[in-house]
Amino acid sequence: MSAPDYSTALRSHRCGDLRPEHIGQPVSLTGWVGRRREHGEHLAFIDLRDYSGTIQCVVAEQVDARSEYVIRVEGMVRARPDGTVNTNLPTGDVEVGDCHVEVLRTAEPPPFPIDARADGVDEGTRLEYRYLDLRRARMQRNLRLRSAVNSAVRTSMEAQGFVEVETPMLMPSTPEGAREFLVPSRKGQGAFYALPQSPQLFKQLLMVAGVDRYYQIARCLRDEDLRADRQYEFIQLDMEMSFVEVDDVLAAISESVLAATGAVTGERPGEIGRLTWHDAMNRFGSDKPDLRFAMELIELTDLFADTGFKAFAGAEAVKGLRVEGGAGEFGRNRLDKLTDRAKSLGAKGLVWIKIGSGGELESPVAKFLSDTEQAALVERTGAGEGDLLLIVADAWPTACEVSGQLRNDLCRPPVHQGPYQFVWIVDFPLFVGVDDTSGRPLPGHHAFCMPNPDDVDRLESDPMSVRALAYDLVLNGWELGSGSIRIHDDALQRRVFRQLGISDEDADRKFGFFLNPFRYGAPPHGGFAFGLDRLVAILAGEENIREVIAFPKTQSGSDPMTGAPFAVDPHQLAALGLRIVPE
Ligand code: ASP
Repeated sequence: MSAPDYSTALRSHRCGDLRPEHIGQPVSLTGWVGRRREHGEHLAFIDLRDYSGTIQCVVAEQVDARSEYVIRVEGMVRARPDGTVNTNLPTGDVEVGDCHVEVLRTAEPPPFPIDARADGVDEGTRLEYRYLDLRRARMQRNLRLRSAVNSAVRTSMEAQGFVEVETPMLMPSTPEGAREFLVPSRKGQGAFYALPQSPQLFKQLLMVAGVDRYYQIARCLRDEDLRADRQYEFIQLDMEMSFVEVDDVLAAISESVLAATGAVTGERPGEIGRLTWHDAMNRFGSDKPDLRFAMELIELTDLFADTGFKAFAGAEAVKGLRVEGGAGEFGRNRLDKLTDRAKSLGAKGLVWIKIGSGGELESPVAKFLSDTEQAALVERTGAGEGDLLLIVADAWPTACEVSGQLRNDLCRPPVHQGPYQFVWIVDFPLFVGVDDTSGRPLPGHHAFCMPNPDDVDRLESDPMSVRALAYDLVLNGWELGSGSIRIHDDALQRRVFRQLGISDEDADRKFGFFLNPFRYGAPPHGGFAFGLDRLVAILAGEENIREVIAFPKTQSGSDPMTGAPFAVDPHQLAALGLRIVPE
């Protein structure tokens, strides 16, 4: 594709494009005044900036152009005089001389400098003046990288035969898992729409409709507490396809994610590997393992099957971590902190053992372990002099999760530091945990995931052991997205609903609009959705998705720029038939 023509009625070039090849050409440029330096009364150097970069303009006339004024400059490109070439600037070989400056719009002094120094400014202030924050090179780069990722994703989906279909923003409330934003209906007072947590039900209906391959860069809304990788509103690449099995969906998504990564980094990563959920938990203690570093959990359960040591005896799982060279680094204080951390994560305790200079075990618990157990422990972990072992004995999920969290605490690099380590996690459990109040299983992903056909017999007798045809895509320890093969059979859907405590009557009432269409011929289908904000953040080298969203909310859910959310006028509430009840 040839480069776009950026010239307009007001400018001939962008500031950042001028190079020695333009020397001798008259140019007209537009942009904002960056730095300005005076040389005597009648000579000023103005750094003119637009999103493409900065160019030095030499102005020999009296002109009132201060920081962030919007100006138009006409002048002649020339080589910079000897010794003044600026190697830090792509335009640093040249400057624009004989400049005539026209002020298009004056500007008040900005509340923070429009350059990298603003990175240190309090985020509330950056968000209050987001339009100035976005004027900075880093944010311009992030927005453009985001656009490039979206574009590559679209191109890849289209190339694979997916068709873009928009789904409604006002929809019925559906129990997909997250808390919904509700929208009161004016015409049907007392009734509410919900904003989509995802287009899940509609995309499945599109399969019933015979669309075959659907995608959408979809806006989703969830009223959940915000954090580094979560906003109320976020963007997903949402897709669904018919007549498929797991491998088909993974292949289609892998293609689009790898194409997008390649498009913005210049290097397409290799094929994405797979781990089963059970292996991910067992080896890394997490369903979103960060594979950029090793330090796997070491299986120790069998070594202590007959132990006399109380803390290990009878534990469902004993998991160890070997911290190489950790013995010296971890004094009593740090070890106490690690133990407190393990307890706060739900473990009964944490056992630590240092390997001394003669290979002996140094630990308050060493005396409780038999010689055979000590020798087996050293052999299994491969621990040598100066290493530290951390051991958690507990129920299997707790032992895995706590060890996995400690693994992350000790070693995990910031999410945005390369390399890009994608991994598919497959074979998720159909249900995870139970609801505190109802005692019912909770869906691992959502209520529409197909149970693994090999396990479906146990749906009623041993529901927690049933695996789903559900999968996640993980990048550098962040969950990018989830998906599954869906249930397309009414009877099976009702069996799953019953496990979740949704009776047939409830199902008809709440999901009739979804279940009834399936009676008219639902093809086997499956899909996926991944968070574009998360992918873009990592590719942009940002640790927080707010840095790649033009107008995000703060951690507390407000928008310092617009002041939202606001109380509304009583007459607006009255029109909706609503009254605010003070807490
Ligand atoms: N709707 C699901 C989600 O947003 C993704 C999927 O199952 O396709 O997490």
